[in-house]
Amino acid sequence: MSQLEDVDPRIAQIIKNEQSRQNNTLELIASENHVSPAVLEALGSILTDKYAEGYPKKRCYRGCENADDVEQLCIDRAKELFGAEHANVQPHSGTSANLAVYFAVLKPGAKIMGMELAHGGHLSHGKDANISGMLYKVASYGVEKDTEMLDMDHVREQALAERPDMLIAGASSYPRTIDFEAFGKIAEEVGCPLLSDIAHIAGLVVGGVHPCPIPHSTFVTTTNHKTLRGPRGGIILCRKEYARAIDRAVFPGLQGGPLMHVAAAKAVAFHEAMQPQFKDYARRIVSNAKTLAESLIEKGWRLVSGGTDNHLMLLDLHSRNEKLTSHSAASWLDGAALITNANPIPFDPPQVSRWTGVRFGTPAVTTRGMGDEQMRLIAGWIDQVLCSNGDAETLAKVRGAVEQLCRQYPIPNKNQAASDKD
Ligand code: PLP
Repeated sequence: MSQLEDVDPRIAQIIKNEQSRQNNTLELIASENHVSPAVLEALGSILTDKYAEGYPKKRCYRGCENADDVEQLCIDRAKELFGAEHANVQPHSGTSANLAVYFAVLKPGAKIMGMELAHGGHLSHGKDANISGMLYKVASYGVEKDTEMLDMDHVREQALAERPDMLIAGASSYPRTIDFEAFGKIAEEVGCPLLSDIAHIAGLVVGGVHPCPIPHSTFVTTTNHKTLRGPRGGIILCRKEYARAIDRAVFPGLQGGPLMHVAAAKAVAFHEAMQPQFKDYARRIVSNAKTLAESLIEKGWRLVSGGTDNHLMLLDLHSRNEKLTSHSAASWLDGAALITNANPIPFDPPQVSRWTGVRFGTPAVTTRGMGDEQMRLIAGWIDQVLCSNGDAETLAKVRGAVEQLCRQYPIPNKNQAASDKD
């Protein structure tokens, strides 16, 4: 970063501080990961200079031959990786990808039906504060009170009663396998398209450890930056018949010029995800999550739905401490270098201050090469912190141990694909 240090030492210093924070803490936020140096190089490249409104070979600007090559390669890899007929790789985020899908086939006032936010859904699936909740009528389905899992018969009944114009499958904090086939059948029965949003589990899907939604869905959206371990941003996959509508909804519908440096970084991440070792990475994310979940349960904590099938779990703080709130817990864990996020658990009151869950995920610690033994250590530290009542001495002691583990498992700074082989 020598150039940056000369030109803007304050920003250079902030980036160094962030590097040090990442190096010395354990990233347990389920939606985060550490990208490879190759992805970072593409992201920091001169492709950022180029305007390329339009699509490959159909641009409004001249000088797009290299932009065309980048975007076409990214599209081809996305299609191959997911087995999709069409890919649009321009959405700036997962939210923009979802909005583009709605915009492509729905009129304002149409009804969308997704998973309730408090039960694990995402803001862009119709939350009232999000534009999706303002433009469209919203119906939602949720998990069952006793199992805290989706009951597909119940989802079907609700969908048949509500008759949405689009059904949405996919979640931000649902620790169980999503039955895309059942969602596909329900959408068919209702006579509406199915959008499967796999932002969280995309890496698990391409790694072969979670069922793939493509054959059952009209549209699939994902972010690139969670289990898929790419740059921030989104993509849309769909059947050929919707290609034109989707492309027009993204540009000129919702966005101007695409981010070609990001498209290049997405292409690199897709290439990495096609390597055989990515399958092993995906398998280890899930096995680490299972070990972390089992260890927390052994310590006496209750997890929503009793465990996990994927990369994340939700801990019910009231199972051991009736007074503990999400924000206190997340802030104590932060003090011990264990980075998480406050999260509601199903049936929590809506006020953020009354949430009673914490979400943990294993994509980033798995990227650092950690396995079962380290998951057990982490569960022990989480337990110590949550039982400490925020005691400064306990937090400092755990922080010291976490920092030591971080030194043993540095964030890979060589080629990511190579590091997965080790
Ligand atoms: N969809 C789901 C299921 C998500 O979990 C997220 C982000 O957490 C998104 C969409 C939105 O992604 P972004 O933050 O890139 O807008």
